[in-house]
Amino acid sequence: MQSKQQIEAQVRQWLTENWDPESNLVEWRSMLAQSGWGAANWPEEYFGKGLSAEMSTAIEDVFAEFGAVGTAQTGVRMLAAVTLLEHGNHEQKRQYLKRILTGEDHWCQLFSEPGSGSDLAGATTRADLDGDEWIINGQKVWNTSAHHANYGLLIARSDWDEAKHKGLSYFIIDMHQPGVEVRQLRQMNGHASFNEVFFTDARVPRENIISTPGNGWNVAMTTLAYERRSFDRSRDNKRSKQKGRIFVELKKELDISNEPYTWYPQRAGRVDLIMQRAEETGAINDPVQRQDIARLHILSESAKWTAQRAKAAQKAGKPQGPEGSLGKLAASEVGRLAARVHTTMSVNDALLTGPDSVRDGVIAEILVSVPAGSIAGGTDEIQRNIVAERVLGLPKETRFDEGPFRNVQRNSAAKDSGK
Ligand SMILES: Cc1cc2nc3c(=O)[nH]c(=O)nc-3n(C[C@H](O)[C@H](O)[C@H](O)COP(=O)(O)OP(=O)(O)OC[C@H]3O[C@@H](n4cnc5c(N)ncnc54)[C@H](O)[C@@H]3O)c2cc1C
Repeated sequence: MQSKQQIEAQVRQWLTENWDPESNLVEWRSMLAQSGWGAANWPEEYFGKGLSAEMSTAIEDVFAEFGAVGTAQTGVRMLAAVTLLEHGNHEQKRQYLKRILTGEDHWCQLFSEPGSGSDLAGATTRADLDGDEWIINGQKVWNTSAHHANYGLLIARSDWDEAKHKGLSYFIIDMHQPGVEVRQLRQMNGHASFNEVFFTDARVPRENIISTPGNGWNVAMTTLAYERRSFDRSRDNKRSKQKGRIFVELKKELDISNEPYTWYPQRAGRVDLIMQRAEETGAINDPVQRQDIARLHILSESAKWTAQRAKAAQKAGKPQGPEGSLGKLAASEVGRLAARVHTTMSVNDALLTGPDSVRDGVIAEILVSVPAGSIAGGTDEIQRNIVAERVLGLPKETRFDEGPFRNVQRNSAAKDSGK
């Protein structure tokens, strides 16, 4: 096995020979994908080097040293990548993974429905096999970035006679086809990151199923585990300020793929602004507010340690532990407390938006964005259920949804579609 220093030396040499800021972005990333250095912890057969996550971090540091652009890592595309790596077949991995790394494809996650969010396994969007195609009918909602996506990760019910969790299948769907209608939704913070997606006889080639018919729930668990683990991943585009053709193209790409996420730092509560605001408003001298600021600091630092523990376990190749759900819950608590502290410090100004408001309306945006953190990727209540049942081993909730899904009680619109 090669040492970290040997690998770093190889990356340095490769970058010295190949990195050129005047390259075309997609061509550069294509070369990077072929070299395996752009996703070094992926298998060698699929654009990686089969190295550990720890080595990958060391390689990223060498890229940073050179100021070199890496592979595309933002948005739902990484959910698609981890899902395909674990459950996709050889052809799917060869077809989609490279274009994920080059940033050519945008993806969205088509899981939630008006009648099944927390109860994801209750999905009633249907997939009916017709010759070599699956015909998709139904509605999804809350789908971040669907308005930019050319592919979707879709869960749909392919068997109504199987039990709830066993009748689902997981598909890759082309978003730019007749029968797929994407409608943007406006949120209370003014942004429009989500969509409703309607399917009317949309078509999925038979080979676009991930895993096997009826195994969709297991595949979805991989997607969700990764989503919960990466709830605090930041999306920065500081490299785009560097000079060269590639950075101009990178900025264009990030402007599109980061657009639905511009409010995500506010959703996390902007703990980074707390001390500055405490100085500006004089809250730093208020004994009651100081208590809350200290509590927030303690909570936020201990949440970082949980995240570091999760990362360390991942690097050591250990299976996912409870840190995903615990970390997500901690992030919700931090966000909520941060919103309260910001609001108490800014008083009436916390409600103002627009250019002449405090910090260009950021405090108001925090206030109306923080609730999203307790909902996205599984609500706080659902995370508590997971911790209670799977980590602490407490008795499971009483179930009323066993037996063939066709007979399970659900809302009437969903029932009709199962006829
Ligand atoms: C920022 C953001 C981004 C998102 N992006 C996507 C996306 O890209 N793709 C996608 O498919 N979805 C996405 N979602 C949707 C998200 O996954 C769902 O909103 C979430 O799973 C909750 O479902 P729901 O909204 O239907 O709420 P419901 O399931 O209707 O829940 C309503 C309330 O009931 C509680 N509840 C429900 N069941 C239980 C239970 N068994 N025990 C205790 N309490 C319960 C919930 O905690 C909640 O408080 C996103 C949501 C947000 C906020």
